[in-house]
Amino acid sequence: MATPNRRLTRKLSIIAQDPAVRYNGKILRAEIEIPAERLLPGPCGYRIVVDAAGEQPCRIPIHRDPFATASDERLLADSRFHAQNSYAILMRTLARFEQALGRRVSWGFPGHQLRVATHAFQQANAFYSARTKSILLGYFPGTEGMVYTALSHDVIAHEGTHALVHGLRRRYFDPSSPDQAAFHEGFADLIALLSVFSLPSVVAALLGSATLRPEHLSPEHLRESLLFAMAQQMGQEISNVRGQPLRRSIQIRPSAQWKRDPAFAEPHRRGEILVAAVMNALLEVWLCRLRQLGTLDAYRVAAEAADTADRLLSMAIRALDFCPPTDIVYSDFLSAMLTADREMSPDDTRFQFRQTMLKSFSRFGLRPTSKGDHGAWEPPEGRLHYDRSHLDSLQRDRDEVFRFLWENRKPLRVREGADTFVQSVRPAVRVGPDGFVLRESVAEYIQKMRLPASGLRRMGIRAPKGMPADHPVTLWGGGTLIFDEFGRLKVHVRNRIDNAERQNRRLAYLWALRQERP
Ligand SMILES: [Zn+2]
Repeated sequence: MATPNRRLTRKLSIIAQDPAVRYNGKILRAEIEIPAERLLPGPCGYRIVVDAAGEQPCRIPIHRDPFATASDERLLADSRFHAQNSYAILMRTLARFEQALGRRVSWGFPGHQLRVATHAFQQANAFYSARTKSILLGYFPGTEGMVYTALSHDVIAHEGTHALVHGLRRRYFDPSSPDQAAFHEGFADLIALLSVFSLPSVVAALLGSATLRPEHLSPEHLRESLLFAMAQQMGQEISNVRGQPLRRSIQIRPSAQWKRDPAFAEPHRRGEILVAAVMNALLEVWLCRLRQLGTLDAYRVAAEAADTADRLLSMAIRALDFCPPTDIVYSDFLSAMLTADREMSPDDTRFQFRQTMLKSFSRFGLRPTSKGDHGAWEPPEGRLHYDRSHLDSLQRDRDEVFRFLWENRKPLRVREGADTFVQSVRPAVRVGPDGFVLRESVAEYIQKMRLPASGLRRMGIRAPKGMPADHPVTLWGGGTLIFDEFGRLKVHVRNRIDNAERQNRRLAYLWALRQERP
């Protein structure tokens, strides 16, 4: 029987970073591979719908890239290209998440299609709104004409990542701790930066020369390069300083000082610590690979960078499956990344990704939450009962997972008496170290308790100073369960609702926030 001629992917042109980033005097472009689909004008696709809002909608045929040979002037001026650019970057980001996680990824709102308004408002800003199920991209007058965030790779990938993380970890938008708000921002920057880094042709162009000299590959020189710059055009327009990106987190000097600096309470600023820790690790592994190769050929150097960035992208995205469902802190994310990478590549001896990551975080005073297995999460303790669980249902049925949880509440130390519900059960397909496909599943459960402040003490939790005894308090907690292909629990990532240390910190933070903003 003949197989139908199916094209799963297609290529489309985008602006590699933004119009301010030039190569040989022209805007640096990239051709990216994204899922193929028959689009309606807009473009309007199965997951991304660009809202033309009175402008001419962009028509993208399935076999042709309408802007493959367009002039720079046209890319800047044609609103249809702004639509294509936003659509293609968001589709690539979505596809990268789905590839890393081995499943479809939903948005954080009911519905399948995320709307994008490419010229939403005249302001140097852009944001994701779950309420309107959309990404709103602004524009503003710059020194050399209008600046469109719809032409900024980093801004679009950043906002798209907010939407994806919202789909995977609903409660991370809740006020919880300085780390949780910062995690959203830092993670979104990280995905944007690594996505550019994983395009070898763009890295080669940004290195600036086909034949490199050793000093081009010094850590100091590379830290200054556009590879580590987030949103170049927007940064230089806002700051009025030529060449100043919005953020260049890698230049934060590694130390634990930031923990005492009030400036790092602001989510974007604090998010930079996460970016700096990961990007320093990337730089270190990349340079180590180049030393082993002994090459100065820009394309070879770029291929090594892209390969390293791609592995870090997988590690960072897969880590979301190993993160607690509520109240994340940086140390949890570090343990989650180390676990995700251990699962993908048990042997880490060649380039020592995990060792390097651990060292890089520790230079910022950050240690993994897990005390065992070099910072990765360990298997659950205690004897678990599986005799009344059905493997098949355990991989897709929330009630079956709840039953497993209920039967094992003692060994898993799940708090009794709290409102407990299983929020999701999702398959996670990955290729094991032996090359075989493994079908695992990931379930999240949430626990919630409402009580007056006076009731905290019997849980060992301190009410913040000044909180009235009858003040209503809501506590959140929960865990992530990873089942292997045989339905056995491999990892239980917990954020216990009765973890006094964490709840004390969270309540103190939220109470202080409330006092600041009555
Ligand atoms: Zn953001």
